[in-house]
Amino acid sequence: MTNIKNPLKNSPEEENKKLRIENSLLNSGYFQLKETTEKLRESEEKFLKAFEISPYAIVITRVKDKKIINVNQAFTLISGFTKEEVLKNPNISLKIWGNLKDRKKVLSSLKNGLKIINQEYQFKIKNGKYVTGLFSARIIYINKELCIISSISDITERKELEKIILEKQEMFEKAEKIAISGSYVLDVKQKTWTRSKELDKIFGIDNNYERSISGWSKLVMPEDRKMMNDYFVSEVLKKHHSFNKEYRIIRKNDKAMRWVHGVGQLELNNRRQVIKMFGTIQDVTERKEFELKLDQKNRALKMISESNQSLIHASDEQKLLNKICQIIVKVGGYRLAWVGLVEYDKTKTIRPVAQAGYGSNYVKLAKLTWANTKRGRGPGGVAVRTGKPSLVKDILNNPSMIPWQKNAIKYGYKSTVFLPLFNNKQIFGVLGIYSSEINAFDSEELKILNEFTGDLSFGIKALRERAENIKAQKALIASENRYRNLFETARDGLIVLDSKTGKIREINYYLIELLGYGPDKFLQKKLWEINLFKSIVSSKKSFEILKNQKYKRFENVPLHTALGKLIYVEFISNIYPADKSGLIQCNIRDVTERHYLEEQIAQSEKKYSNLVENINDAVILIQDGIIKYANSAVRAIIDTPLSDIIGKPMINFISPEYQKLVAENYKQQLKEGNIKNRYELIIINKLGEKIPVETNNSVIMFEGRPANLSILRDISQAKKLDNIKSEFISIASHQLRSPLTGIKWFSQLLINQKIGHLSEKQVDFITQIYNSNERMIRLVNDLLDVSHLETGDKFKIDKKSGDIVALINNVIKDQKMDSPGKKITIKINKNCPSKLILRFDKDKIYQVFSNIINNSIKYSGKSSKIIIGLKCLANETLFSVKDFGLGIPDNQKERIFQKFFRADNIASVSTNGTGLGLYIVKGIIETHGGKIWFESKENEGTTFYFSLPLKNNK
Ligand code: ADP
Repeated sequence: MTNIKNPLKNSPEEENKKLRIENSLLNSGYFQLKETTEKLRESEEKFLKAFEISPYAIVITRVKDKKIINVNQAFTLISGFTKEEVLKNPNISLKIWGNLKDRKKVLSSLKNGLKIINQEYQFKIKNGKYVTGLFSARIIYINKELCIISSISDITERKELEKIILEKQEMFEKAEKIAISGSYVLDVKQKTWTRSKELDKIFGIDNNYERSISGWSKLVMPEDRKMMNDYFVSEVLKKHHSFNKEYRIIRKNDKAMRWVHGVGQLELNNRRQVIKMFGTIQDVTERKEFELKLDQKNRALKMISESNQSLIHASDEQKLLNKICQIIVKVGGYRLAWVGLVEYDKTKTIRPVAQAGYGSNYVKLAKLTWANTKRGRGPGGVAVRTGKPSLVKDILNNPSMIPWQKNAIKYGYKSTVFLPLFNNKQIFGVLGIYSSEINAFDSEELKILNEFTGDLSFGIKALRERAENIKAQKALIASENRYRNLFETARDGLIVLDSKTGKIREINYYLIELLGYGPDKFLQKKLWEINLFKSIVSSKKSFEILKNQKYKRFENVPLHTALGKLIYVEFISNIYPADKSGLIQCNIRDVTERHYLEEQIAQSEKKYSNLVENINDAVILIQDGIIKYANSAVRAIIDTPLSDIIGKPMINFISPEYQKLVAENYKQQLKEGNIKNRYELIIINKLGEKIPVETNNSVIMFEGRPANLSILRDISQAKKLDNIKSEFISIASHQLRSPLTGIKWFSQLLINQKIGHLSEKQVDFITQIYNSNERMIRLVNDLLDVSHLETGDKFKIDKKSGDIVALINNVIKDQKMDSPGKKITIKINKNCPSKLILRFDKDKIYQVFSNIINNSIKYSGKSSKIIIGLKCLANETLFSVKDFGLGIPDNQKERIFQKFFRADNIASVSTNGTGLGLYIVKGIIETHGGKIWFESKENEGTTFYFSLPLKNNK
């Protein structure tokens, strides 16, 4: 190897020398040889250069004596030995091997013709340290000598780095395990991620799980998915923020809800595009739950302390309940809280009275009850019925919540608890709390809430008691004031006695006024000492009796006032508990006047009963249909001893056809009060004979209750006479008719001068005869009508359909012609129909209108007007005829419809009349089923009304 020259060590002179030699050789034709030598030299040089500049340590060892014959620069650098040190020391190779066994192995391998390639061995360097080298060796010939060329590449640093990396990795894996943290790298473009094993565990996934963004998203808690995706896209991908978020996942393998904390760093390319994100995901469930619990507990505690503050300062129950609900929602962090009061009514209502939070409508629509019904089997009803908190962990999956689930979803309630509120063991209400979390109320929290409702119950109880106390106090003061007022303003004399001693403790002003004595006469004296009530309490002993009787009343006690006046008093004593001993209150009422009045009444009663007993008319007092009193005239009519009359039902003595009428009238009278009622009826006497009587009734008070006082007059005689009269009228009018008709025809013939000429005077006289005869005919016709009406024989109504308006118009026309010398306008009211078809007897109704209108004309001044009205009502048609004439005097109104009656105010105006017209008219109307009446004021006018029923007209 000595031939090998180091070209770097060639001096410039040598180079020059070389050049010169080359030139001379060229010039001398020594070219062939030179070329060969040159090639050799080039190859040597090439080798030498490679040898020297190689980064690997190269050692050349002679095989025969194992002596190192050359090393390169890299060797000296790595080993620390200089070239000289190596070459001089024949044992150096033994020194540098870290393990001589390795050397032996290498040598024997080489001996066997094998090459050593990249084997890792330890070498010892000059400073005693060991380095790791990748060792390669082979046998070569150098200058025809067997040599070993070996190269060592120092891999100590790499080794160490590897070791560190390994250690680090181990550490990292351990750390991941301890921190329950996994790592990942997300390829944003590919949307896929790689991960550490620990992450698989956290997510509960296996190798086959889809590691894509959507795969990750599927792990996220469904309700948080959108929020997390939004966060990832807008915060991380768009704004390039690092990923940092705690979120909930559902672990794939066991479906458990876990909290994880994900962090991630972004890697951007030079166009600022996100290429990768790498980071860690840590399972923080335990911490999170702890934090939440802690947070909840803190909130619950804060809630209690705040509500206790409110309890202390509360003055009004409603305000307190509102405040408590607010605290639960604001401090407790719940979604809704409300208080319902338990009603002990039929439907067992739970009535909401206070609430706070989200979903006021929910409470309104909840309609809770504590009855054992569908709506009563929810937690509210259960809490009231059992008196224990009732919990629903998951509203959506609890069948008892079905009636409220729809709204619970709407307002985001996931779990709820109802806690009963007590007042002395009685449940008076419930507190309902709703959370937006499933399973929000653990046992710890329930304990706190229970404590909370206990405090609340207590606070409300205290408030109620306070309110009751105030009310009771107020009531007491009010009652005392009232009593004091009554005492002082009473119109009775009042004495209050000590019930033990009989001493007078109080008297009122009225007593002083009544008796004329000053207070000293009474106060602190014993009741029997004041000498006023000797007849009641004469001694202590008699006082004891009074006391023991508790309530005692003395009537009409005579007493002399201070002025010596005799008065009568009523004395009532009443004992009542008060103070320790009890009090007796004595009311002393002045009844002097009543006393004298009673005396007078007794006398007057005597007088009147005498009178009643002795009058001719029968007097009967009926109460509840029973005869309570009857005078002796009754006996005369009924012909029965009074003992058989009094106490019997009145109806027993009335002829059957009148019983209904009497009963109705009797009822009507009692209903309408003291209205006089006069009508005819028939009494059956002892022998069964019918006795017609006219009765006159009025209502009086008898023994504190209304009774009917009836005066009966026997009208048998009058009836008989009436019948004779009617018969006479009937016969007379029939008999009169033919001669009167004769007179009518003959006088008409004369007036028309068909018989012969008459002088003017003669015509005038005969006309008068004719007119008088006409009146006579009318009278006779009226009389006949009356007689028909009364016998009912020939008075038949023949109803036919017809236009009643047309009929009225006809009457008006005829009447106008009939009233010479008068300027009377007759009008039908404007708003009347122009045609109205009814069923009625044309002739008779014509007679009605004709009579009434004729009266209006007769009893009006020379010029006046008459207004006819017509109104269709539901069941009848109502007619009216209004005039502005003389009117009817008040005292005669009652008799207007009686036959032959004529009022006295018309005598001067019209002598021409019979007093039968209205009697007949009434008969006609009533036979049609209608009614007639009138309103009238003297000198102002009269309006006659009558109705025709629609029913009977059809
Ligand atoms: P007459 O008209 O023939 O006397 P009526 O029976 O028709 O008999 O009437 C009875 C009485 O009623 C009349 O006499 C009169 O006193 C009174 N009367 C009836 N209609 C009117 C009226 N429109 N204005 C004033 N008085 C009347």
